[in-house]
Amino acid sequence: MPVWMGTSWKMNKTLAQARDYTVRLVKELGDRDLTGVQPFIIPPFTALATVREIAVDDPRVILGAQNAHWDDAGAWTGEISVPQALDAGARIIEIGHSERRQHFGETIETTRLKVAAALRHGALALLCVGEPAEVRDAGRSTAYILEQAEGALAGLSDEQLRSVLIAYEPIWAIGEAGRPATPEELRGPFAALRERFGDRVRGLLYGGSVNQDNASDLLRIDGVDGLFVGRAAWEVEGFLALLDIATAHNSTDS
Ligand code: PEP
Repeated sequence: MPVWMGTSWKMNKTLAQARDYTVRLVKELGDRDLTGVQPFIIPPFTALATVREIAVDDPRVILGAQNAHWDDAGAWTGEISVPQALDAGARIIEIGHSERRQHFGETIETTRLKVAAALRHGALALLCVGEPAEVRDAGRSTAYILEQAEGALAGLSDEQLRSVLIAYEPIWAIGEAGRPATPEELRGPFAALRERFGDRVRGLLYGGSVNQDNASDLLRIDGVDGLFVGRAAWEVEGFLALLDIATAHNSTDS
C-alpha cells in the first residue's frame, strides 16, 4: 500500500499561480524516486485542466476535484458533475469535507449519493469525516465518524470499497484555528476505522494542521496510510518537503 500524500488548495490560486506551482513541482520531482508514495493535488475546478496539462508530464501525480454533484448532467446551476471533473483531469473526487458539511448543507445522504456517483464513473472517492470539538469533548469522536463513514459507504461491495479513501479530519484540527491532533487522540479513531473498514478501502488518511514537523509522527500511527494537507502544502516547497518525509517513512517502514 503506498503512502498517500495529497493537498487540496481549497478556494486558492489563480490560473497563473496554479501553473507556476505545477511547473515547479513537475520540474523538482524530475527523476526523484517516489517509490511507494502516491502524491495527489486537488486544485479548484477552475485550475484543474491547466494543472492537468502540466502534470501530465509526471503521471505519478494524480489530480482530484474538491466536490462533485451526484447527477451526471442537468439543471443544477453552479454545480460540476463527476464526468465533468474527470474530463478536466480529476481521478479523485473529494466528498464531505467538513467545510462543505458546515457551510453548504452536505449531509450523510448527499455524501452517499456523491460516493456512488464517483464510483459509477470509475473515480476514486476521497470521503472526509471528522467531528466538532464538542463531540470530541463528549468522548464521542469514534461513534460520530463511524456514523458518517458507514452512512456514506452503505451498501458498497468490497470491490467498490477498493476505490474509496477515507480521510479523518477532526474539525477542531483543521485550518487557521485548528491544532493538530496528537497521536494519542488519533489512535482510537484510526483503530476503529481500521477495524470497520480494514484493508477493504484503498487507504485511511489523516488531515488537520499537518506540517513538516509532525508529518513523520503522524505517518507512524497505526492505521494511517497517508496525509491530506492544506496550508502546509500550498507552497510547492512545502509539498515537496512532505513528499520527502513520505518517501523517508516508506523506506524505513519497508
Ligand atoms: C483541511 O482543511 O482539510 C486541512 C487538512 O487543512 P490544514 O492542513 O490547513 O489544517
